[in-house]
Amino acid sequence: MTSDATETLSARLDRHADRIFERMIAWRRDFHANPELGNQEHRTAGIVAEHLERLGFDEVRRNLGGSTGVIGILKGGQPGPCVALRADMDALPVREATGLDFASVKTADWGGETVPVMHACGHDAHTAVQMAVAEILATERDAIKGSVMLVFQPAEEGPAPDWQGLSGAERMVADGAFDDPKPDAFFCFHVLQDERPGTAGEIRVHEGDGTYAMNLMRIKIHGRGGHGAYPWRTVDPLLIGAQILTALQAIPAKNVDVNENAVTLSIGIFKGGTKFNVIPETAEMEGALRFTDGESGPYLESRVEAVAKGIAEAAGGRAEVDWYMRVPLVHNDPELLRRMRPSLERAAPADKPVVDVESCFLDDVSNFSSIAPLVFFTVGVGLDTDDPARSGFHHEPSFQVNEAGLATALRAMVNLAVDYGYDSARNDG
Ligand SMILES: [Zn+2]
Ligand SMILES: [Zn+2]
Repeated sequence: MTSDATETLSARLDRHADRIFERMIAWRRDFHANPELGNQEHRTAGIVAEHLERLGFDEVRRNLGGSTGVIGILKGGQPGPCVALRADMDALPVREATGLDFASVKTADWGGETVPVMHACGHDAHTAVQMAVAEILATERDAIKGSVMLVFQPAEEGPAPDWQGLSGAERMVADGAFDDPKPDAFFCFHVLQDERPGTAGEIRVHEGDGTYAMNLMRIKIHGRGGHGAYPWRTVDPLLIGAQILTALQAIPAKNVDVNENAVTLSIGIFKGGTKFNVIPETAEMEGALRFTDGESGPYLESRVEAVAKGIAEAAGGRAEVDWYMRVPLVHNDPELLRRMRPSLERAAPADKPVVDVESCFLDDVSNFSSIAPLVFFTVGVGLDTDDPARSGFHHEPSFQVNEAGLATALRAMVNLAVDYGYDSARNDG
């Protein structure tokens, strides 16, 4: 190849991206046809880890985040910082109705129940793109300044109902997955199906804080079971639960300055009991606390616990509150975003410049902000006007990904991984 000697690094990266595109789509379709639920991504993680080992990554760590997480570390040919990229691997308990020839027909166990499984959020695309990034970086490792850490994370969408303890990004942080080496920056993208035709490949990014934070709770109420005809011999956990559920609504209404913090508290699961004439021993509820003031989490949690425990004790029972997942605000570091903006702009299609938006949806990648500055952006995967089938939104059975948009995602992630070292080297000098 006579052009190689004079070709610039960024031109080479673009050429690698074009060349790997078809294989990346094949990986994506394979993951799509074989989706796996949170903390069960064994097949996916196995494919990812073998791929990184085959590429000669210096280190490949498996079974992270309490389950299937994989981290691959590639040392570049020149000294420099450590940059981390994240892809999530999990699918959702949704029955696919896209009619695609690689549609999922898989089922899996989800807290003791058999459920259909579908990549209805696009994490199949995230994983495939990051595998392609891995291959391009391995090919160009001599040109890389510093090291690249590729993070393949389990359970972004939360754990199964019977999962114990933390999971996902929060668990990886708690387990010390980023202690050595400690990344200097995190980059992450999410596909965005916004249902406007012609948005494939459009990059959108916000500066500062995203919409809201979310803390997930599980409340277990212990009473004393017995005969429904003799309630005075029992402590009814369902009645306690009903009172807790109602009383919790007073927290956003009465404990929060509505000028500074928008708070919602929703219970999505309330279960207990087996028969009409048996008062059960226990009842359980699960719900989400969402809030726009990222600092207010501990206070809101303490209010929930005081209300739940106080009501249960007043009735002669007991309540336990378990916070099993915390998703902070997605904070896009303004300084890092400003510095890396040219890398995003170079990846964007000529007719679709980078769009600045006010905010973004939640993603548990926000937990990585406690380690290093983060930039999270979306890449459009809206279907084109002449596509016959309409796609649903994320988490809907008809959700689809316009694969043409993934070319932008790939270029953006490769640029960020490579450029970060060069920019840092310039700053250091
Ligand atoms: Zn999702
Ligand atoms: Zn998602």
